[in-house]
This record gives sequence, C-alpha cells and structure tokens, in this order.
Amino acid sequence: MEAVATIRRAGKIKCSRISYSELVNSFSSHGCPICRLTRHSEERAITTLMYERVSDPSTRDQLLRSNGFCPFHAWMVVELYRRGPDTSIEPLGLTIILSDILNHEINNIKRDNLVSSKANRCIICRIAEEAEKSYLDSFTSCINDKLLEEYSAGKSILCLKHYTLIYSNLQDIGKELAKKLKEIQLNKLNKLYTTAIQYIKKTDYKSPMEPSSDEATAWFRILEFLDGYKTSTIIKSC
Ligand SMILES: [Zn+2]
Ligand SMILES: [Zn+2]
Repeated sequence: MEAVATIRRAGKIKCSRISYSELVNSFSSHGCPICRLTRHSEERAITTLMYERVSDPSTRDQLLRSNGFCPFHAWMVVELYRRGPDTSIEPLGLTIILSDILNHEINNIKRDNLVSSKANRCIICRIAEEAEKSYLDSFTSCINDKLLEEYSAGKSILCLKHYTLIYSNLQDIGKELAKKLKEIQLNKLNKLYTTAIQYIKKTDYKSPMEPSSDEATAWFRILEFLDGYKTSTIIKSC
C-alpha cells in the first residue's frame, strides 16, 4: 500500500496533554484511531462552515475558487444532513452557501470561463490532510510505554496505512517502541482473525452456539484495518 501522508520529524514535535488525551480517548472505540480522528475533523470543519454560513470573506472566496466542495465532501455534507439536527446542517445554511457558488458558476458559464478542471483544492480536503498529519505526528511524538499500554488495552486497531507510517517513522526514533507497537498490533490482529474464524464456525448448521454480535461484525473491523475509515485522505489515496 502506498503511504501518501508523511510524518514530520517526530523528535521536534512536543506531545501536548491535549493530544495525549485525545489519542487515549480514541483508543476506546473500534476502528483506526487516526482515521476516526481525521474523520471527526472533517465533519467538524463542515459543521463549523455551515454554522457560520461562510460569514468569513476568505472562506467564501476559497469555496468559490474550488467550485464548492469536492465530490467526496459534497456527499459528506448530505450524509451529515441526513444524520439529523445535531450536526447544524440545515436547509437555510446549505442554500445560502450553495446558491452563492451556483451564482458564481452561472457567471463563469456566461463568460465561457469554464475553470472546473483548474479549480483550487476543496477547503475540507486541505483541512483533512492537515488533521491526518497532525494526528500522525501526535502518535509518534506522544508514544511511550504508557501510551502503548493504553493502545493495547483499547478496542482500536490502527489501519494498515497508518500502522505502516507510524511503524516506519519509529524505526528512526525508537526501535524498542517500534518493536512493542508491532507486538501489540499483531496481538490485536490475531484476536480479530480468531473472532472472524469463530463466526464462520458458529454459522455452521451443526454448531450448537450462536455467533455473538462481536463475531458477526468482525468483517467490518477487518475491512477497516485493510482499507481505513471513510476519510478523504484514505479514499483519495486509492
Ligand atoms: Zn487509519
Ligand atoms: Zn474535499
């Protein structure tokens, strides 16, 4: 798998208490902590944008120059809207933002100024990329025995892309920590594999036991380990 994101020189970045606790909290949920935190940043960026209705002229300008959102983030807006009122995505905010972009495009078409192919990058894509780098930096700058214990005890499993990036970076800054991370990662993956095999065995009609919900959803966690969670930084690195 191609490692698209990079990690800054970990030795130069200090681990803040906020970064440390954000990482530790993310270990308690299923899935890749870096992917999930990046996804939250994308969602937060969209809801903030919608809440403020692009009152900031520079944000409005960036949105116009990128012809709005990229397709990935346009559909994330729809997903958030469908999720309900808690996300602050409501028809008035959407209409104000999108009609502004539509008006900009109408004027472009009138002037034969068809710049779609040259449009700037989507504003949320840039935020997502920065967030991913920042969480990778946090992981490598905060890593110590205590953090690894927390990772080991939690439900989360670093996806293949993010494990590869962190492990490679640790080769330069702490071989012992890299070795421990590898052991923990393999332990988590072996457990996941056993859970998946248990599910297959228990679905046999001769099996006296019903599969648990944990076993029945192992496939989802395998998929997330292999391919990461639905963030633009993962989807667009295909
Ligand atoms: Zn990941
Ligand atoms: Zn985007």
